[in-house]
Amino acid sequence: MKALSFDDISLVPRYNNIASRKFDGDKQHTNVEFGGLTLSAPIFSSNMDTVTGVEMARFMRHVGGLGFLHRFCSIEDNVDMYTKASSNERMFPNERPMNREAVVSLGVNEGLDRFHALYEVGARYFCIDIAHGHSRPVGTLIQQIKEFDEAAFVIAGNVCESMGAGYLADKGADAIKVGIGPGSVCSTRVKTGFGVPQFSAIKDCRRVNCFLIADGGIRTPGDAVKALYAGADAIMIGGMLSGTDETPGEIQDEPIWETASPAGTLRRKYKMFRGMASKEAQDDFMGEMREWKTAEGVEIKVTAKGPAGAVIADIMGGIRSGMTYCGANNLRDIRERADHVEITPNGAAEGRPHGKDRL
Ligand code: 5GP
Repeated sequence: MKALSFDDISLVPRYNNIASRKFDGDKQHTNVEFGGLTLSAPIFSSNMDTVTGVEMARFMRHVGGLGFLHRFCSIEDNVDMYTKASSNERMFPNERPMNREAVVSLGVNEGLDRFHALYEVGARYFCIDIAHGHSRPVGTLIQQIKEFDEAAFVIAGNVCESMGAGYLADKGADAIKVGIGPGSVCSTRVKTGFGVPQFSAIKDCRRVNCFLIADGGIRTPGDAVKALYAGADAIMIGGMLSGTDETPGEIQDEPIWETASPAGTLRRKYKMFRGMASKEAQDDFMGEMREWKTAEGVEIKVTAKGPAGAVIADIMGGIRSGMTYCGANNLRDIRERADHVEITPNGAAEGRPHGKDRL
């Protein structure tokens, strides 16, 4: 069976009933309901230690999305992080006095202990996040949380096909994270051969009636629109936010072109970005990487990008414009109204800016 990635398809426009092609905020909206929260942007930041700490979580709420705090720290540090992320103190000028909820993450090993500690300080949104979500310990942890408090909102993953998604939904998950192997710093497919190209993975999981989060492989606003079309209710991004001011970690600086005189040396500013299954992350978190394991992620340097606001604005601009291309009044409409064609590598190349190649 053939599976497709975002680059293998293109969306086909449909009649737009709205007066101009311009997004009309009165008739169109990008809201998404998520566990009692109304989000104005269907965007979540990845629970990675180089993407979402306190500042990113607060920033994501500020722009109408939601931050998923990472879990690669002690339970005490996680509690501290959640408390700061959800506190009422203002962090940005004009930060809205709104719900400052953040999602917290749980693994399966000490998942229940972490759950109780975070629940105690008020957390109600939990993301059980392991590399292969279609597995018994995840099902068990969902059930344990739901038995403790039926109203706790549980996101579980990751899966990449409908049997896995169906399993998590049956166990009581309120939302499912889709994506095995598409991530920008992920090497699961290279190391294990497993994973499903993301467009098809989302489409297949859509057969299950549950809130779907397309997690990984979104490199452009266009990919975000394709993910929503494929059936995602929201997207999760790591790489696109990496290197922004709001991510954890210091901006570093290195020479990229050295000359005899320091004045002529070109330098760049960068931040570290790493997969949570990379050797570097495992060494930091577990003390060292277990010898029977292979790293399924990599660590890279990304050029410092400045404020994350520009990244979110670009994605939201693409989503709004995409909605007008298919006459969608809301995000769900994209799925209903648009259509897609499969394209060749030539079609994909044609669709990228290529001005100088044609001279
Ligand atoms: P991105 O937006 O960078 O393409 O993808 C981010 C997603 O990659 C994360 O939300 C997470 O699901 C996934 N991810 C993060 N670290 C790793 C890793 O080390 N290995 C794998 N397989 N996936 C990872």
